Amino acid sequence: MSKSKHGEAVTVVVRCRPFSRREEMSGCENVLDVDEKRGQITIRNPRAPPDEPMKVFTFDVVHGFESKQRDIYEDAVRPLVESVLQGFNGTIFAYGQTGTGKTHTMQGVSSDPEKSGVIPNSFQHIFTQISRTQNQKYLVRSSYLEIYQEEVRDLLCKDNNKKLELKESPDFGVYVKDLSSVVTKNATEIEHVMNLGNQSRSVGFTNMNERSSRSHAIFGITVECSEVGPDGEDHIRVGKLNMVDLAGSERQSKTGAKGKRLKEAAKINLSLSALGNVISALVDGKSSHIPYRDSKLTRLLQDSLGGNAKTVMIATVGPSHKNFDESLATLRYASRAKNI
Ligand code: ADP
Ligand code: MG
Repeated sequence: MSKSKHGEAVTVVVRCRPFSRREEMSGCENVLDVDEKRGQITIRNPRAPPDEPMKVFTFDVVHGFESKQRDIYEDAVRPLVESVLQGFNGTIFAYGQTGTGKTHTMQGVSSDPEKSGVIPNSFQHIFTQISRTQNQKYLVRSSYLEIYQEEVRDLLCKDNNKKLELKESPDFGVYVKDLSSVVTKNATEIEHVMNLGNQSRSVGFTNMNERSSRSHAIFGITVECSEVGPDGEDHIRVGKLNMVDLAGSERQSKTGAKGKRLKEAAKINLSLSALGNVISALVDGKSSHIPYRDSKLTRLLQDSLGGNAKTVMIATVGPSHKNFDESLATLRYASRAKNI
């Protein structure tokens, strides 16, 4: 795997999942070549003549079929969580077509510690670090929300159909009014919070997978640390971590969406394209205007994208020739976040 440039504000990681059994059975061809050492992914257009040059993309970190959940965490996420513990803000998001491993990467399989994803690994990391400190007091709060059709819902509230409002205040910046915030004292407690939210994501919807592919889920952790300084005063630092499982990036026109569905699709794409615009404006560094206000997602993440905050984008792709168009679109989206 390539060395990630952790000093930069945005780290881009591309992860390619292995073939599914179904893809293997149906004779799908592989169109991706992953060179972890160079941080390069080569993609072959299955419809192009054999002499057409293939497209090569370079990223901070790339992971092939064999990558482990741990690798993703150690390479890109650990340094970001470390900086949250130091009092900075950070955002990690998974972007990609439905079925390419966003939820696998962010959540993983809870029954198998080897397969636990970014979110549960961050719990272990945070509480292990806290248990090692002596002179500091920590307060860890978490929240879990979903943005579906540009509407915000609390996944930790029984009445999760209530739409919440975004507010802005000079002291707190942008926040969600009435969003639950749960204080947890150890990894087990916060895992319980995550599981509750995951359950509530599926309640009342006949097709959980369909809904999760159309909504953005944000697990937020605020780490507050207080310490008595040499001056005898209490010093407080606060870091915020957002972990985002984005809606599927697939273009909806292709899936034959009509009417309500098409309107819904437009809203999903609005948040994703707004996020892309914000990130490329940040990376570009020349823009005086960062278009945070263009979507709920970017407004909510405003204080955790740019400035002193660190961002990790994990773009997920599938290897099959059938996914060529979407994989190429994902690689292009991810490339826009690179500083070159
Ligand atoms: P998404 O959230 O992007 O729609 P999922 O995370 O649900 O996709 O992944 C789709 C399927 O592929 C799941 O069965 C998941 O377990 C499997 N999968 C995804 N990524 C990997 C990976 N890196 N290694 C092994 N299996 C994976
Ligand atoms: Mg998913």
